[in-house]
Amino acid sequence: MPSPISALKALLAQPKQVFITTHHKPDADALGSSLALSGYLRKLGHHVTVVTPSDYPGFLNWMAGNEEVVIYDKRQNDRQVRDLVNRAEVLFCLDFSCLGRINELGEYVRHAPGVKVLIDHHQEPENFADLDYANPRAAATAELIFEIIRDLGDQHLIDAGIGECLYAGIMTDTGSFRHPSTSRNVHLIIAELLSAGIDLSAVHRRIYDSHSEQRLRFLGFVLKDKLVVKPEFNTAYIAITQDELKAYDSKTGDTEGLVNFALSIEGVVFAAIFIDRGPAVKISFRSVGEFSVSDFSRQHFAGGGHHNAAGGISHERLDATVTKFLGLLPDYQVALATTAAVSGAPALAVAPPVA
Ligand code: 5GP
Ligand code: MN
Repeated sequence: MPSPISALKALLAQPKQVFITTHHKPDADALGSSLALSGYLRKLGHHVTVVTPSDYPGFLNWMAGNEEVVIYDKRQNDRQVRDLVNRAEVLFCLDFSCLGRINELGEYVRHAPGVKVLIDHHQEPENFADLDYANPRAAATAELIFEIIRDLGDQHLIDAGIGECLYAGIMTDTGSFRHPSTSRNVHLIIAELLSAGIDLSAVHRRIYDSHSEQRLRFLGFVLKDKLVVKPEFNTAYIAITQDELKAYDSKTGDTEGLVNFALSIEGVVFAAIFIDRGPAVKISFRSVGEFSVSDFSRQHFAGGGHHNAAGGISHERLDATVTKFLGLLPDYQVALATTAAVSGAPALAVAPPVA
């Protein structure tokens, strides 16, 4: 059996038609990994198209190669994208672990004739790829992309543009280098990216300091009126209706990170945000320590992700979804209290639990 890296080297030995895709509503790791890989493969002479299954936040549109991204739209370019999938000799699937995460593209990719390569760091990857670089221990898919380029002997091809895409992915997926996934390896990679000439403060500013005034007012509204704390469960959550999104003219990306405010309350170890997107309620879960939101989301909300950051979906109404969530909490009360105690979170002032 050749090692995956030598198999990839052989696969990329001659210029090929390459298709790169990533998950629905790409975040900085998803888009950054895709554009870094595409920038690198173009330098090798490959013909590359990056297709995202949906649009993505405007604060990512500075990335090198952004102007060439094709955003899939069922009504506008279905045929064109299907042709790209079917003509591709190599298909890279980045930063997602199951084909359901790329919507309609999932079945196109599943039946595509080309060689499928999965590069991802989520838990429980689906077995659909011919070459598999799934590593849930990695902090970000961008970390894996860096290692693959390096192991192919091409680190010198990582320029500042590619480096900043990778930096953005690692910075955001590690929560700006504070999550436990922030390993020594991560910092060593960042050192290499600095040598490649990246401007890390510029990347940080473009991602975190580019809010519209309206987005900040929306944040104020959410924190003041929508945040609910359940001290007896060491839990906090936020539920946002479609009308509220409309009232603040909320754009893709405007709700990103809100769930982290819920998690930042002292004593809270489990946070959720429910957003009514019309066709379905999109849910994000976050936790600290032992409590696995990946398991919780997979078991109850058709989702998955990472141990401490996961997402899911509900096809029930927003209020019914929240009621279901609240109904589940008593089953986890002991686990949540234990997680809080172990992680050193001071107890929240609560009435004794109802027997
Ligand atoms: P977020 O809450 O930021 O959308 O996602 C948190 C993590 O969970 C990300 O790594 C994301 O890829 C993953 N994730 C989000 N939504 C879903 C989902 O519906 N299904 C699965 N399997 N993973 C998800
Ligand atoms: Mn990621």
